Amino acid sequence: VRAAGGDSTRFYSPEMTRAAERRLRLTMNLDAAIENNEFHVVYQPVVETSTGAICAIEALLRWKHPDLGAISPAEFIPLAEETGSIVQITRWVFANVAEQIRSWRRNGIEPRRVFVNVSGQQFIRDDLPAYFRKMAEEETDLVHFIGIEITEQAAIQNMEATVQAIRDLAEIGIDAALDDFGTGYSSLSYIQRLPIRKIKLDRAFIADLPGNDRDIALVRAMIGMANGLDLPVVAEGVETAAQRDFLRGVGCSELQGYLISRPVPPDEMGELLRQSDRR
Ligand code: C2E
Ligand code: CA
Ligand code: CA
Ligand code: CA
Repeated sequence: VRAAGGDSTRFYSPEMTRAAERRLRLTMNLDAAIENNEFHVVYQPVVETSTGAICAIEALLRWKHPDLGAISPAEFIPLAEETGSIVQITRWVFANVAEQIRSWRRNGIEPRRVFVNVSGQQFIRDDLPAYFRKMAEEETDLVHFIGIEITEQAAIQNMEATVQAIRDLAEIGIDAALDDFGTGYSSLSYIQRLPIRKIKLDRAFIADLPGNDRDIALVRAMIGMANGLDLPVVAEGVETAAQRDFLRGVGCSELQGYLISRPVPPDEMGELLRQSDRR
């Protein structure tokens, strides 16, 4: 197989063809995945740096393909964004998370705010404020247990729509966090325009702490900036005690990562919440 692009000619290897076939297959199977019950949500706790108590939860989507097994969201979310099925998938995640929150509360577990990842497209192609306004009318306090995470990149790409939606959601009682902070080449003026409630530092900046001088300087600067804007900072991908101790020392308010817990199924998350409440 040969494909010409400009004056360069590229030859595709069998591996590339297989990768393309896999993409195509996953893309075609995405729509049916909801109906076929192939998605589920796992939960990862976020803890307060000072006390270790769980203060928030991130919902992460999982796809178990009937033939291909577990597919990473890093692989299927971009495909869902391309086809637009991300809009329906995100609605499914919200509904599933809402049901989980109800279930925890029925069992006497007070969940923290559960943050759902939302793609930039959702603000353009879906009316999230209307969806949550209706939810708030039917169940007053449920929205206070829901938050959204939006990547810095997506926010910058759709600045107007994002600012408006986040404002409307805040009015309804839904908090927004800025995800993957530090990777989006944004400036301070952008961040100031976004009515967000917290900032999540991308794992890339945390991985080499505390040994990498450049990362130390960047993390200090980003936390300093966030503190200046009165925004709590969550460090993602915290895997070692040395990272945790460094982050505590530089005033990072919240931690998330394998050191605290991997993403876990709902029942296990419920147990973690119970334990955290008992301490
Ligand atoms: P993200 O939002 O930055 O989520 C954090 C990712 O880091 C998750 O990967 C999580 O499992 C992983 N992680 C957490 N702690 C650690 C750690 O200590 N070390 C390492 N190495 N990794 C850690 P996951 O679940 O595979 O998700 C990948 C990405 O897929 C997410 O990155 C998010 O961008 C996207 N995603 C996941 N679920 C959804 C969803 O429901 N909707 C949308 N639009 N995107 C989603
Ligand atoms: Ca996230
Ligand atoms: Ca992130
Ligand atoms: Ca990420």
